[in-house]
Amino acid sequence: MTQRAKRAEGLRQSDIRRMSVECARVDGVNLGQGICDLPLHPAVLAGTAAAIEAGHNAYSPLEGAIELRQAIAKKCESFNRFRCDPEREVVVTVGATGAFANVCLSYLDPGDEVILFEPYYGYHLNTLKLIGGEPRFVTLHGREFDINFDELAAAFGERTKMIVVNTPGNPSGKVFTREELLQIGELCRRHDVLLVTDEIYEYIVYPGAEHVSPASIDELRECTLTMSGFSKTFSITGWRLGYVAGPAELVEPLGLVNDLFYVCAPTPLQHGIAYALEQVEPSYYESLARDYLGKRDFFAAVLQEIGFDPWVPDGAYYMLADFRALSFKDDLEAAKTLLEKAHVATVPGSAFYRGAPGDRVLRFCYAKPMEDLEKAAQSLRRAFGGR
Ligand code: GLN
Repeated sequence: MTQRAKRAEGLRQSDIRRMSVECARVDGVNLGQGICDLPLHPAVLAGTAAAIEAGHNAYSPLEGAIELRQAIAKKCESFNRFRCDPEREVVVTVGATGAFANVCLSYLDPGDEVILFEPYYGYHLNTLKLIGGEPRFVTLHGREFDINFDELAAAFGERTKMIVVNTPGNPSGKVFTREELLQIGELCRRHDVLLVTDEIYEYIVYPGAEHVSPASIDELRECTLTMSGFSKTFSITGWRLGYVAGPAELVEPLGLVNDLFYVCAPTPLQHGIAYALEQVEPSYYESLARDYLGKRDFFAAVLQEIGFDPWVPDGAYYMLADFRALSFKDDLEAAKTLLEKAHVATVPGSAFYRGAPGDRVLRFCYAKPMEDLEKAAQSLRRAFGGR
């Protein structure tokens, strides 16, 4: 009776969350989990407070409040450069994580294969596995995270159902180019495979890179489900608001599954974000990326100073850093030592890789107030040398 279902047997807390727990224990600076505890744009607060006051406190339709779906469709057209019908082609979800769960539940049968690029985001891997999907890994090479297209083509087979493209990527920060997306899309079309994108970091892209939504490429529109959300754009990771957009026939089951598992995403928050999407000025998004650029460069320099070799990302707000010049046995020991000696939490590289180079890298998240990054820098210097 107390025997767990097979699918739940191997489940354990993610390393990302485990490090947050350990960080709280030493009252450290948490550069592990992408918590993103930054001040909110006033329109986010005002819109949500007004929504609660106005009585938007009951269930929304299963596919989300129409006001938010309309705002999402507008944003997809102006920012992501693809059109979607807010009535039939958008579903509001409980975060981008809820979006992916809906996609997996709607499209995967046990044994179906899903191609993931490595380094991968553990929640993609473990969600698809929970549902019985089989991961097929395609490793990105070098510090530029290059795709070997022969290896990618070889990963497509009879049982391939979907490929996940996370751009900008977590933890790599890789921003997929139009050419790469076209080639990935060509394979998807040839093998009748769903292209599932996770674009949650879409506004956090640094000079030299450009965010391209696969759905904006004409040839890919029909096979693409675009997932994103508002956690990172508005620094509201705890609100759990995301969405999926795509062709009506692909989106249709997602709302039904969403209803069964969540009924709907929190209604007043949906209205708050609908308001914010209308109100927030374009310069907000630019200053978001500029702010993270400053933090990226500051922290890359700190890591270099103390002997790490950071892989400076093109997008998102994580940095993998190689610690081979320091004397740690492996990534777990490195993460433990940083936490104990400097009270700085990171995520061990093995959370994102099956083997090497995960065992010689740590992931640092710099989505923190500057004071926290400075505090972390000081204690890292104190513990490991440097200026
Ligand atoms: N996406 C964030 C990260 O990678 C948070 C993940 C989580 O806590 N589920 O750190």
